[in-house]
Amino acid sequence: MPAQLIDGKLVAARIRQRLADARRSLGSGPIRLCSLEVGQNPAAAVYVRNQQRAAAECGIEMEVQNLPVGTTEAELIATIGNLNRRTEVAGVIVQRPLPPGIDPRAVQSAIDPHKDVEGMHPANMGSILYREPMFPPCTAAAAQQLILETGIDLRGAETVVVGHSEIVGKPIAVLLLHHLSTVTVCHIGTRKLVDHTRRADIVVVAVGRAGLVHGDMIKPGAVVIDIGINQGPDGRIVGDVEFASVAQVAGFLTPVPGGVGPVTVAMLLRNTLRAAGAQV
Ligand code: NAP
Repeated sequence: MPAQLIDGKLVAARIRQRLADARRSLGSGPIRLCSLEVGQNPAAAVYVRNQQRAAAECGIEMEVQNLPVGTTEAELIATIGNLNRRTEVAGVIVQRPLPPGIDPRAVQSAIDPHKDVEGMHPANMGSILYREPMFPPCTAAAAQQLILETGIDLRGAETVVVGHSEIVGKPIAVLLLHHLSTVTVCHIGTRKLVDHTRRADIVVVAVGRAGLVHGDMIKPGAVVIDIGINQGPDGRIVGDVEFASVAQVAGFLTPVPGGVGPVTVAMLLRNTLRAAGAQV
């Protein structure tokens, strides 16, 4: 397997250590990250447990509120309003998916932008265009961090981002553009995906379709960042990239699980400490 695996767990552990130091510099007062969920989704429960464990390591208290099934959009927004007013709450996150009938964008917009540690409030989303976002969206920031870990010179590098969602694909494209990478964004309207991916020095895949990108679509030596999370046929979690064939061709590859996911959580905690006043 020529590709070097980019160990997201290791990168995340290093970031958390730095965050724990930064947290100590803020004194002993509580710093709380509040997670809201409507109903109980087993997949979200796994994420929340991981977030709780990582937060504790960085001295951040995580408060988990599970609102009952049937909670309306207005009730959820009222709950967010209460958290916006609580001074010890540095950050608020809303676990997805939200039930039908609740507009995720309305909910995200109700979070005080200074507590929007997922970086999804329109004000924070907009600020990434100006290069200095207070809270860069966590998954996009994680993808950027993992690319930088490889040591590749982003200036002039051809990057192809597959997937153009508001929370993942588009912000990644903007963040990498700031490094003067030449960025192409592919999506459902792209005529021939392989024509783009095969010439890319960096391929970032964020679609949610197992096996979408395989080895013969990758330029030898390229950096491949797999953001997708899918349930494989045997029940195991797999990414959007066909791991075995891409690992034969790529220079660097993130595994799923253990790649982007842990670093995304670390970025969430970094944003939380920034919200609490840390310079991290
Ligand atoms: P999403 O909102 O469903 O967006 C998927 C994007 O892929 C859309 O822009 C869609 O285009 C595009 N697309 C669909 N089929 C395509 C195809 N055949 N070729 C190219 N593009 C295609 O999903 P998301 O929130 O961005 O998440 C993407 C994946 O990343 C999911 O598997 C999700 O679970 C995972 N994820 C992982 C993390 C992490 O921390 N590791 C965090 C967030 C998300 P249209 O909108 O035009 O259909």
